[in-house]
Order: sequence, then structure tokens, then C-alpha cells
Amino acid sequence: MPYRTIIEPFRIHSTQEINLPTSDEREEALRRAGFNLFGLHADEVIIDLLTDSGTGAMSAKQWAGMMVGDESYAGSRSFYRFLETVQGITGLAEIIPTHQGRAAERILFSVMVKSGDVVPNNTHFDTTRANVEYQGAEALDLVIAEGRDPSKNHPFKGNMDIEALERTIAEVGVDRIPLVMVTVTNNSGGGQPVSMENLRSVQEVCHRHGIPFFLDACRFAENAWFIKLREPGYEDRTPREIAAEMFSLVDGCTMSAKKDGLANIGGFLAMNDPSMAVACRNLLILTEGFPTYGGLAGYDLEAISQGLEEVLDERYLRYRIRSTEYLADKVAAAGVPIVRPAGGHAVYLDAKAFLPHIPPSEYPAQALAVELYRDGGVRGVEIGSVMFGTLHDDGTETPAQMELVRLAIPRRTYTQSHIDYVGEVVLSVAERAGSIGGYRIVEQAPWLRHFTARFAPVGEQGLGNRR
Ligand SMILES: *Cc1c(COP(=O)(O)O)cnc(C)c1O
Repeated sequence: MPYRTIIEPFRIHSTQEINLPTSDEREEALRRAGFNLFGLHADEVIIDLLTDSGTGAMSAKQWAGMMVGDESYAGSRSFYRFLETVQGITGLAEIIPTHQGRAAERILFSVMVKSGDVVPNNTHFDTTRANVEYQGAEALDLVIAEGRDPSKNHPFKGNMDIEALERTIAEVGVDRIPLVMVTVTNNSGGGQPVSMENLRSVQEVCHRHGIPFFLDACRFAENAWFIKLREPGYEDRTPREIAAEMFSLVDGCTMSAKKDGLANIGGFLAMNDPSMAVACRNLLILTEGFPTYGGLAGYDLEAISQGLEEVLDERYLRYRIRSTEYLADKVAAAGVPIVRPAGGHAVYLDAKAFLPHIPPSEYPAQALAVELYRDGGVRGVEIGSVMFGTLHDDGTETPAQMELVRLAIPRRTYTQSHIDYVGEVVLSVAERAGSIGGYRIVEQAPWLRHFTARFAPVGEQGLGNRR
């Protein structure tokens, strides 16, 4: 068959204007924001790749669903549609709607986790880690070694290290491990998938020790598609069948509908154990809402139900995964260092290799993120020492393991020409990489500093000299 472009399997039905700030306006915005891209107004951004969370476009059917949302406080029709959809996909018995993924995490860990416990995961997402630690427990990352090396190619870099899991259980003891989680795809580890074989092995270990096994299922459909593409024996299975098999291995899951729910808000907690569900619902009523709406409007439940059906459409998944890979191929072909292979929802630029002359203490990934905005109004996010560096009492810092800039692709939002443009911006920055300088922090909060820190270019007179 002749080569054919994999096209967006939809046409555009309503549009939103993109502002096109000039390079002077971008320079001014950068200075006002203290070179922190979280401080920009969204209208100052041309292509916004800050996150794929809640930033996607909904379909006409989702919007239509919102018009028929049932806003009854208890027993809403929209809840029963939601229940049927989620049970249909996951096969899990107890379905608890929440306003976001992190609300599901907080409720689950409040019920299951106590101080001194250890929760293994392939790689904890930041809210998951924070919610585990909030209970006084340790969040342990056990991704395979390949998952920690940006340049290593492996089809399932999100896999959990089974030996490390066994070792952890032997060392810590079953009593202190209330559950094991696996994140699909592994967001903090580069959006990399987990194989069915690996999920089966984790399930086998958990089952043998009587430890509950939960999925952090935010990108379950993208993971199912990678299994179809890369795991022998799954070529002819549908994404829905593969997802059903993934969920059949677990005792429950947490979900952010802002990812593979194709919605702008929402999430859920699901499980098989009815007594655990009772305890979770009691907490839900306290902080989220009645169990048939869980902090969401009836119309949100409709949008999520429809989104969960659409996300498993093969044509959508083929386009989705290919469009991310398309950007990765484009920049990698020009020699730009990235995390390989491409993740499902994002391309990660390797700033350490991109800007080798900038030491980690001068935040190369921050410098690269700033430069992508300066050059073309593209907003990515620093995932390096600004986010994960450890600040010591004497003012010194231990840098993060990797210095990455994540370009997350919102779902069904940008066209191929937008993505071509992003590629051009990356290449234009790459051409003058040698002349790009580092940054120092002039103001920072005691925790989660990446959201609000202010920076100054190294060598430039600024606020920081007041120290
Ligand atoms: C986004 C995300 C969450 C948290 O979901 P929110 O809806 O943002 O609260 C948890 N885990 C993973 C892997 C995520 O990507």
C-alpha cells in the first residue's frame, strides 16, 4: 500500500483564536514573569504545551451530552450512564466519581495508607507522591533501569522492576505495604508504556503476598495502544479488549478524566472490594459530594462518559500516538537530543545534551524552556533541577537526575501545521544553542518552587544581587 499520512480523524467545528504576540511582547512578558513560564498569561503563548491535562478539545457528541446532563442531586441519570460506561471498560464493581485524579488519590490513601507504610509504583506522579507522603508513608519508585536513561530504547520503558518489587516486599514486610500501584502510561517517567506481561507479573507478585494492586489509569487507552503496537500477541486485539485485560489484573484504580477521559475536568476511583468502597464513599461525602456526583456536575459526567467511549477508538489512538511521535521524529532527525522512544502524550527534550555548556546549577532545562518561548511563543515545562533539585540548608543544591523540557500535546487541539511550527522553533533554538546562557533563582518558595520562582540570566545584574 502506498504511504499515506495518518490524518486527524475529525474536522474542526468551532475554533478559538490564537494570539500571536510579537518577539518584543514575548521579551517583555518573560521579564515581567521573572523568566518563569508559569507566570505568563495564556494569551501571551502561541502554542501551549505546558500540559495535556484538561486542555484537550471535546467532540460535538460530548458537548451534546452536556446539554442533556441531569443535575439531580441524588441518583442522576448522568451518573448511571457514567457508572455503566466505567464498569463496562474496567470491569470494576465500585465506581466513585471525583472532581480530579488527586481527589481519588487522597480518598484512597486516606483509607488504605498509614504512617510508616511504603507504597511502590513504577514512578509516582507528583500528586500521587504528595498524597502518599501526606499520610506519612514512603512513595517508592521501582521503574526498570532503562526507564531512567533518556537515550536507552526499550518498547516498555514504564515497566516495573519485578525483582526490586520482590526485594522491597521481603525487606519492608507485607504489613507495611498497603498497596502496589502502576502508572499507565508512566507520566513522570516520560509517558512510557507498561507491557501486559509486566502488569501480569506485578499482579502475580501482589496476589502471592495478598497485597492489593491498583492502576493509576490516567492514560490507560494510550497504554493499550502501545501494547497493541509493540507486544506480541496483541496485534489483532482492540484497544477496548486490551484495556479490559489490563483492568482485569487489578483490584482497583484511580483516574484523571482530564487525560484519557477527554474531558476538561473530572476523575474517578474504582475498586472491587465493597467494604473499602463504603469507607471511601464516607470520605467522599465529607469533601467531594454525594456518591452519585462526587464533586462534578451532571453534565461533566456526560462529557466523561462520552470521552471514555471515544478515547478507545482505534482511529483516534492511531492519530494520537502518531502525532506525538511525528514531533519526536522531526526534531530527532535534525540531531536534537530527546528521550527515546517518544512518550504517548509528550516529547521530552534532553536539555543536558542540548545545552552541555550550562551546568545543572544554572538550570539548563529552564534555559531551554525560556528559549523556546522567546523564539516562537512555545510553552513547555521544565522537568529538571528547578522542579526536583534538592536545596540544602547551606544554600547548596543537589541537582535532579535528568534535565528535561516536556512538550505535552493537548488532545485533538493542534493541527499538523502547529506541530510543524513547534518543530521549527526547536530547530531554530538548536542552531544557536551555544550562545544560550544559564539562569539563577532570585526568589523561591520553600516547596513546589517551580510554580512561582523568579529567575535572572546568569551574568545579568538583577534583584539577586541584593543578597
Ligand atoms: C494528572 C495525573 C494525576 C492527577 O490527576 P489530576 O486530575 O490532575 O488531579 C495522577 N496521576 C497521573 C499519572 C497523572 O498524569
